Amino acid sequence: DLWTAKGHVRFDEVTFGYSDDRVILPHFSLDIPAGQTIALVGTTGAGKSTLAKLVSRFYDPTRGSVTLDDVDLRRLHPKDLRRAIVMVTQEAYLFSGTVADNIALGKPDATMDEIRAAARAVGADGFIEKLPDGYDTDVNKRGGRVSAGQRQLISFARAFLADPAVLILDEATASLDIPSERLIQDALQTLLADRTAIIIAHRLSTVAIADRVLVMEHGRIIEDDTPAAL
Ligand code: ATP
Ligand code: MG
Repeated sequence: DLWTAKGHVRFDEVTFGYSDDRVILPHFSLDIPAGQTIALVGTTGAGKSTLAKLVSRFYDPTRGSVTLDDVDLRRLHPKDLRRAIVMVTQEAYLFSGTVADNIALGKPDATMDEIRAAARAVGADGFIEKLPDGYDTDVNKRGGRVSAGQRQLISFARAFLADPAVLILDEATASLDIPSERLIQDALQTLLADRTAIIIAHRLSTVAIADRVLVMEHGRIIEDDTPAAL
């Protein structure tokens, strides 16, 4: 039967490197209570994506552990892990197939009603309904019609439908046009509600909606505070 995670994520004395001769995260500890939204900022190469990859179990720590609700990620069933922790990256926004297929990716048995509801929740329904074949539009064939901001909204609808306890988001660096920037911010608020979120933030507006901002440098957290205090 299904295990439902609450979303408490903890790094306990994690040491990690991609090779033996270079440590990226040295003795890294971090406690993220269930439901908290974290904005992760810092210079290039600081280790932000590495941290995200350890939470999504792309990699395992060399030493120490990453836990979800006090269970070591290595002890979780892969199925439970995939359901509980979802990572949205810039590179993987869209796959070949229809808009509906793309939204349903995290929940293949989703009904068309659920797909539409997810799109509506994040404000993606407006532009989708204007596409030549609506939800049946092939995103590859008519990819040119789908803007960067719209791609991001489709990936948000996908994450909303998957409904993970923990969401990791590597925010797009590409500048978006003003209306979609606003739309994305509203979508983000909806998407982040009632779950733990770790956002590698590139926009000030995203940092502002976080509960907590972590500034990383050389694999360490050098600041940990509320957005207002920073
Ligand atoms: P950015 O803001 O540029 O995305 P980041 O904070 O996400 O940077 P990471 O991608 O976590 O930084 O990289 C941290 C360090 O690990 C960097 O020195 C990087 O060169 C190195 N690194 C990242 N991925 C790999 C990899 N697959 N193999 C070897 N080294 C890597
Ligand atoms: Mg990165």
